[in-house]
Amino acid sequence: MDDNHGDSSENQPQSQPSAFEQASLSDYGGDGVDYSPHFQTREVFPTYQAAVDWAREIATPLGFFLTNSSYKKQRNGLPINYMKCDRGERNRGENRDRENATRKNTNSKGCKCTFQISARCLRDMEGWIIKSKKGLKGMHNHPLMVYREGHRQVSGLSPAAKTLVIDMSSAAAKPRHIMAAVKEKFPNESPNKRHIYNVRSRARLDACEGRDVAHQFVHLANEYKYVTWINVDPDTCAITHAFLAHPEMANMLRTYPHVIGMDSTYKTNRYNMPFFELVGVTPTNQNFLIGYAILKSETYESYKWVLEKLQLYIGFEVAPNVFVTDCDWEGRTFCVGRIC
Ligand SMILES: [Zn+2]
Repeated sequence: MDDNHGDSSENQPQSQPSAFEQASLSDYGGDGVDYSPHFQTREVFPTYQAAVDWAREIATPLGFFLTNSSYKKQRNGLPINYMKCDRGERNRGENRDRENATRKNTNSKGCKCTFQISARCLRDMEGWIIKSKKGLKGMHNHPLMVYREGHRQVSGLSPAAKTLVIDMSSAAAKPRHIMAAVKEKFPNESPNKRHIYNVRSRARLDACEGRDVAHQFVHLANEYKYVTWINVDPDTCAITHAFLAHPEMANMLRTYPHVIGMDSTYKTNRYNMPFFELVGVTPTNQNFLIGYAILKSETYESYKWVLEKLQLYIGFEVAPNVFVTDCDWEGRTFCVGRIC
């Protein structure tokens, strides 16, 4: 590390650990290098955030992260904000109730690092300047990072990348395709699959606007004008049967009512409820989705309930000639009864 920052290390005496000792500060393996010269600049930043961004861009390649720490007023009344190394001691507030406060065991990596720089607001609010101090406030008492990945300041996606993920997700793109697109468009970011999934689930939660899964299910069905029948267990208020179909597909079925195929998907969902699909066939041998149902159990009664709803949905004057299904299907006797 000393080799990388040769010019800055010249400011320090050879026996650096003694600097920590003099200040009765624990040394967790600091390199004794004064990093304050890296933050000496004459640049005037238009906003405080611009100053923070500049300082973070310097700090991150060096191997540490800066966090906004505290602020106070200068003599002229203008603010001065402090940025600390993220391994410095957290400011927990003077008025904190120390006896009753509880804090999760977060395995804090804080080691009271003293590195600190400040951003001062110039007179007339015309901009911000950055000041750094030599000595303990320019040094770290811990080794600097070699791998940045995984840290909260570099982990995750930028707002622009998140927008891309949300747009592609709403177009039903697969996560691996979304990831490839993010890597291509934002080469400086290092996304992983978890980032993509997190953004997608966050967007889904936002779209729910506080509704739970069942309410969102009904809400979307109503929004897209689906015809729905939903049975609820009176004791637990959980959905036991749900049948959904779109009126446009009903018209299609009335035109081509001859063959109906039906089966449950082999994959189970997170609620372990079989997903039952009803498919029609056109004279040109194309399939179309008539409707689908989510069932609590694959019993004769459940399938009877679905087919009764289908009959209500398409009308009693429409009589399919053929039901196509597999042999071990519980509802087949009911279908046979309908055809006969
Ligand atoms: Zn530090």
